[in-house]
Amino acid sequence: MADPKGFLTTPREDWPRRPVEERVRDWREVAVPGALLPIIGGQAARCMDCGVPFCHEACPLGNLIPEWNELVARDDWRRASDRLHATNNFPEFTGRLCPAPCEAGCVLAINQPAVTIKNVECAIADRAWEEGYTAPRPPERLSGRTVAVIGSGPAGLAAAQQLTRAGHTVAVYERDDRIGGLLRYGIPEFKMEKRHLDRRIKQMRAEGTRFRPATAVGRDIDAGELRSRYDAVVIATGATAWRELEVPGRELAGVHQAMEYLPLANRVREGDLEASPLSAAGRHVVIVGGGDTGADCLGTAVREGAASVTQLDIYAQPGTARDEEGEPWPTYPRVYRLSAAHEEARDLRSAPAADADARLFAASTLRLTGDAAGHVRSLHLTGVDARRRPLPGTERTLPADLVLLALGFSGPDRADGLADQLGVELEPRGTIARDAGFATNVPGVFAAGDAARGQSLIVWAIAEGRAVAAAVDAHLTGVPSPLPAPIGPYDRPMTV
Ligand SMILES: Cc1cc2nc3c(=O)[nH]c(=O)nc-3n(C[C@H](O)[C@H](O)[C@H](O)COP(=O)(O)OP(=O)(O)OC[C@H]3O[C@@H](n4cnc5c(N)ncnc54)[C@H](O)[C@@H]3O)c2cc1C
Ligand code: SF4
Repeated sequence: MADPKGFLTTPREDWPRRPVEERVRDWREVAVPGALLPIIGGQAARCMDCGVPFCHEACPLGNLIPEWNELVARDDWRRASDRLHATNNFPEFTGRLCPAPCEAGCVLAINQPAVTIKNVECAIADRAWEEGYTAPRPPERLSGRTVAVIGSGPAGLAAAQQLTRAGHTVAVYERDDRIGGLLRYGIPEFKMEKRHLDRRIKQMRAEGTRFRPATAVGRDIDAGELRSRYDAVVIATGATAWRELEVPGRELAGVHQAMEYLPLANRVREGDLEASPLSAAGRHVVIVGGGDTGADCLGTAVREGAASVTQLDIYAQPGTARDEEGEPWPTYPRVYRLSAAHEEARDLRSAPAADADARLFAASTLRLTGDAAGHVRSLHLTGVDARRRPLPGTERTLPADLVLLALGFSGPDRADGLADQLGVELEPRGTIARDAGFATNVPGVFAAGDAARGQSLIVWAIAEGRAVAAAVDAHLTGVPSPLPAPIGPYDRPMTV
């Protein structure tokens, strides 16, 4: 413990965000550049180095949080970087994007604001890049064994990096034209600038990982043929099959899935398009779905210059404090959280219909209506009770000429035919079935990430990628793998 009185003398201080008026006029990350380093030593020193660190348990990667908190507090960035990278291939991704279940599990959070663990992680990762601690680590010798990883999201990338460093020859197949999965064409630039992703891909290339973008396995290459060309295959194709809104008017023009809308905004940032064909500029936007994907649509629509943006959440508004009975520490509680996008919508009064930020809680869509040309113009909704039953007298109509559906994802997209060509078995809910060793029913074929776990988080995807790499390594070498396996396929988040 760097400072035995740390949390007694230093209050929690978060990485400040840039002013709303400034940041909605660009697409850069919302945090103030350079403002983290001056405060982070004191913040890391708030850690009590608990005998049983629940933060460490709450992180699927098993990040060695008290260790690197102490190293940062002592200004030993080199060793902090080594300890962080010992458990996490891409800490600058989680340091920006993780919802930080570790902070919900921090012992300090029992009666104090938690340690800013995610900010410490991000500071170490960024400093590591600045100081050159992230040099490529190519293997000393090659095993002569080959692996095809299908899908280049965080699960596929983590698996590929672990297996390449272990000496196997790895090729990553990706159906999109660029590598990165949802980190590339999903998560907006203002949450994580793509330069962080590009830098890691460059590091991986230098280590020997090969990338095959614009190649859909099942469509462009037969999956069975791919299997026969490699000693092992890892399916990490994500869970991109979206859920539908089954209400009258769904077929109207101007009603789109979030994952039709967000990638186009990403492509504008990449320079592929002058403007998004689905741009929210000047339009009344309603986002159906209260989760993070909806919040990403919200921040994007605000930056595109929407006339108004409202987000509908079917759940009632949660309280601001943890329900100690229902969701006790150290579980991850459902509380009211004001994301950067919600803060922007609140301050700019983007949703005249909503009271606080852009959200209408306990709201369910009844139908969509349009104009004579078949374009959506209004969304009709009702308030609902806790069992989602409509409450009489609460119907209202919102102007809507762009409706974005952010209702979650049911499992992997089967249109490419990959699963059928390989003959892998699926779970009843559509995810890829696997055993306790991440292996599917087809010999030599493994599955990881959202494709097998179902819709989840980046930290879980990286943990899955690391764990599947250990399983594949053991399969290829015939002996237990020295690679770390932070989770098993049936581990789940600490929730009630
Ligand atoms: C809009 C959005 C925002 C999110 N924001 C966050 C966040 O802030 N924090 C967080 O923790 N989580 C977030 N998530 C969830 C997180 O992004 C996912 O859990 C994570 O990316 C899953 O990783 P993955 O590697 O399993 O799959 P993915 O990232 O989905 O990658 C799978 C890849 O496989 C490719 N693929 C699919 N089929 C084939 C095929 N046949 N051949 C070749 N390639 C194929 C796909 O094109 C894709 O690139 C968000 C999700 C969405 C949709
Ligand atoms: S990856 Fe997520 S859960 Fe793990 S230490 Fe970082 S912020 Fe916390």
